[in-house]
Amino acid sequence: MSVSDTVNGRMRSMSISNKIAPLKIDFLIVGAGLAGLACAYTLGQSGHRVRVLETSSSLHQRAGGIRVPPNLAKLLLQWGLGEELAKARPCRKTAFHSLETGEYLGFLEWQEDIIRESGGDFLLMAHDDVQAMLYDLAVSVGAKVIFNTPIVSVAIDDIRERPYITTVDGIIMDADVVLGADGSNSIIRDYVNGGEDNAEDIGQSFYTITIPSETLRGDPDLAKWADLPQWPVWMGHARSREGREFCVHLYWPDSEVQLESPEGWDVVVPTSCIDLSNYDPVIQRLFTLAPDALRTKHMTRDIAEDWVDETGRIAIIGEAAHPLLPCSTHGASLAVEDAAVMGVLMSRLRTWEQIPQFMEGFQDVRQARCTHVRLSELHNAALVTLPPGEDRAMRDAAMRLSLHADADWDDTRLRAQWEEIGEVFGYNALEAAEDWWIKWGSIGDSAKVISFHEPMSWAHAVTKVDVQVSH
Ligand SMILES: Cc1cc2nc3c(=O)[nH]c(=O)nc-3n(C[C@H](O)[C@H](O)[C@H](O)COP(=O)(O)OP(=O)(O)OC[C@H]3O[C@@H](n4cnc5c(N)ncnc54)[C@H](O)[C@@H]3O)c2cc1C
Repeated sequence: MSVSDTVNGRMRSMSISNKIAPLKIDFLIVGAGLAGLACAYTLGQSGHRVRVLETSSSLHQRAGGIRVPPNLAKLLLQWGLGEELAKARPCRKTAFHSLETGEYLGFLEWQEDIIRESGGDFLLMAHDDVQAMLYDLAVSVGAKVIFNTPIVSVAIDDIRERPYITTVDGIIMDADVVLGADGSNSIIRDYVNGGEDNAEDIGQSFYTITIPSETLRGDPDLAKWADLPQWPVWMGHARSREGREFCVHLYWPDSEVQLESPEGWDVVVPTSCIDLSNYDPVIQRLFTLAPDALRTKHMTRDIAEDWVDETGRIAIIGEAAHPLLPCSTHGASLAVEDAAVMGVLMSRLRTWEQIPQFMEGFQDVRQARCTHVRLSELHNAALVTLPPGEDRAMRDAAMRLSLHADADWDDTRLRAQWEEIGEVFGYNALEAAEDWWIKWGSIGDSAKVISFHEPMSWAHAVTKVDVQVSH
């Protein structure tokens, strides 16, 4: 693939994503996170009427930093957000340190040619900024976002054959389609999969702190971290610390913190509750600069088996469908890719019978992709939290090689890096949706008898995953 192919692909994708659907329908989206807002935009852009119902009182919830990998940046660029993206800090490197000693073990560097080839940049941004950009896009195409509206249930009205939701105040709202974008602890997922939440508490939480860049720059020990175009990682047993200009995510065992808290993104704890005294002084210093942290309990959940209910009128997107580790490299990118695919398919809507077909198509396009990326994220998380022992020694030895590697990159080496990360970073959600449409979408009603859920083999892709894929 060449850069010009990518550019042509982008133009091809823009032409389909801008289409106005011949049949315009009503959507209710539960959740105004990144998945819900992005989906409100892509559906509104095709002329559909969209309402988004959100528990929180406003967009302005406390959050931290988020990674915008090329597969996400290219979508945001195509949606006209180039000016905002230009203000973000590029990320070209992940530097690995020992959490215990601070030793700089090695690094992974993405070459400019590779980033260019993937069609987007790799950026570090604030979660708030990405959410605000998507909100503005959603309202610009007529979507209504309603805050202070927690949803307690979803169901199908058998007589009218329409889905409806019930709010905590007992208000009922119906629509032609309900989309659950209500995050990893989704009630819509439980409905679609006809069962209980399969969450497992593995006794770990993420702590997010933010430190103003100016504070870092004013500290002689920390100033060098403030403006580096990189994402440093400190690795320790069952714990790790990742950070950027002013945001730090710490992954830490609950057994060492005398606090209980529910899952979610709204629990704030004092940083003094985490004992860092045995670890790198840089980490200790960073935590003294932040009085409190956002604590996100990590509950593990499998990727949902069914993303669409049996009527084809209720579906799940974003982390409701494919929960990840909090603060993953691809948390935002997979959520927004979902929205892009949903938007392309629904821009083709011509008949009522196509609704379930397109919803199945959505799952068909997205489930294998999300499973693959999720596995690579879990693999990377396991690698940076290894206990002392042979595996950790091998990991560190491999990383140290990067410190002595030749700085010159020839074509063979560039090709090898593309083969490693091209599948994840080079993915184009709009093209994937368009390809599905060309293959299946035009079949019309007869497509309903085709099974779209043949398990795809991703074993090949998994063998390619290693620590260099993300972070
Ligand atoms: C407040 C907040 C801050 C975050 N900060 C970071 C960060 O700093 N770094 C990072 O890497 N990731 C962060 N994330 C997670 C990140 O947004 C997700 O990993 C990713 O973008 C997937 O988004 P999503 O829209 O699928 O899920 P989420 O981002 O979890 O959004 C789900 C939305 O649904 C709403 N909701 C849930 N249940 C209901 C209900 N019953 N009724 C109505 N609304 C409901 C939630 O309030 C939330 O706004 C944050 C998420 C939130 C909600």
